[in-house]
Amino acid sequence: MDNISKTYSEEIDTGMSANDGVLSHRPSHNKDFCLVAEELDLLSVKVDGCKKCELHNFRQNAVFGEGNVQSKIFLVGEAPGYNEDIQKRPFVGRSGKLLDQLIEEALGSTRASLYIANVVKCRPPDNRTPQKLEINSCLGYLNKQIELVSPKVIIALGNTAFKALVDATEGVTQARLNLYSYRDIDVVPTFHPSAALRNGKRVVDMMREDLVKAGRLACL
Ligand code: SF4
Repeated sequence: MDNISKTYSEEIDTGMSANDGVLSHRPSHNKDFCLVAEELDLLSVKVDGCKKCELHNFRQNAVFGEGNVQSKIFLVGEAPGYNEDIQKRPFVGRSGKLLDQLIEEALGSTRASLYIANVVKCRPPDNRTPQKLEINSCLGYLNKQIELVSPKVIIALGNTAFKALVDATEGVTQARLNLYSYRDIDVVPTFHPSAALRNGKRVVDMMREDLVKAGRLACL
């Protein structure tokens, strides 16, 4: 694995307490998954009432994330868009349909069998990219979700997700050729499905390859 680089994310000020969502080691999979689901439910209530950054002013709904709490794969996107904000679910609309299709083709799986969440939980106005301060305010929630689900592999969908988790200067076009690590969990960078929708078959094919790689790493 000579060409495989491993990097570790720097601590990012999340605005939460020092121990919130911090993984010091790869967590055990011998968990009480009912307890995990309960803890995630409690965290989602906290997110629903969160006003830690200005994005709360623009949301219809906070979008916490959803999926299988026992999943070996955790998909991370950027932020809710218009449809997600209305439906209170991540990755609905055209991007979500493409992602569902690729999950089926590359992993032989369904979205419901995986876990999926965004870096920020509230929709930025006009779907702009979340700002650093907003990401830092919200990241503690994602950290905690990852700690609770305890996946083997994280798929970072797009540059915002990738750079929120990994201290890297390269974008996903280059980074997808490498493997990274977020607190001892493998990170597979790939494109955001909306970028694949804009750029056509070549990007869709690369996304599919990246999901296949993630499936192998997760031993699906
Ligand atoms: S984006 Fe995150 S930190 Fe900001 S208000 Fe929403 S839940 Fe809170």
